[in-house]
Amino acid sequence: FRYREPSEVVVPTPNGPVTFGQNHPLVIVAGPCSVENEEMIVETARGVRAAGAQFLRGGAYKPRSSPYAFQGHGESALGLLGKAREATGLGIITEVMDTADLEKVAAVADVVQIGARNMQNFSLLKKVGATLKPVLLKRGLSATIEEWLMAAEYILASGNPNVILCERGIRTFDRQYTRNTLDLSVVPVLRSLTHLPIMIDPSHATGFSEYVPSMAMAAIAAGADSLMIEVHPNPAKALSDGPQSLTLEGFEQLMLELAPLGKFF
Ligand code: PEP
Ligand code: MN
Repeated sequence: FRYREPSEVVVPTPNGPVTFGQNHPLVIVAGPCSVENEEMIVETARGVRAAGAQFLRGGAYKPRSSPYAFQGHGESALGLLGKAREATGLGIITEVMDTADLEKVAAVADVVQIGARNMQNFSLLKKVGATLKPVLLKRGLSATIEEWLMAAEYILASGNPNVILCERGIRTFDRQYTRNTLDLSVVPVLRSLTHLPIMIDPSHATGFSEYVPSMAMAAIAAGADSLMIEVHPNPAKALSDGPQSLTLEGFEQLMLELAPLGKFF
């Protein structure tokens, strides 16, 4: 992994281009785990935009551990993300789970997410690699740094240089008090190994909203380029990942607390 310069992933959004990279302001991605309905996604989009986020996240296709759990609204949710984009100008980040869906996901997403469970889905990596669409590659649940970087390499080697790495917690022995273990050491480690921008997702890493602010601050202190935060207008009623979701008020408060710490210039 020899490289000369940190790479920049420039994403055109309706509100203007946003650049992920070491020498650029911190990029904030916020939104619900799943797109549930038009009202909640547009309300969330407006709220996170007002608080300072550049991107709205929200799942249309959800990789759930149980086949009986809510699987996402699929194509209709993509349409709702399009409406939220139109209403706020925010860039959209949403997950693609299947090569067959890439075209329609990429039509609404400004950045396509490859989830932790698909980090080594090599046909999916090659397919997004064959486009120039910015890709957010989450670290697999139990992936080593080498495996994660090699997964990124599949995308890069297929011709797409626009890759952002996202640490979302790894599996360790405790699942009672934290959902995963946030491996913040990846920030300096990746800095020494790769030119790619680094995002931290404290929501999936901790699994509990009360722990998100401190880990978000720690991620900034470690030097992360971007944060992904789950936000829901009514976490108690969320169809997925309610316990780890901040309310809109909680997110606004967090952004105020992050402002003096981050590279918000
Ligand atoms: C998500 O971002 O909603 C998600 C499913 O994340 P992960 O793939 O990291 O579990
Ligand atoms: Mn989630």
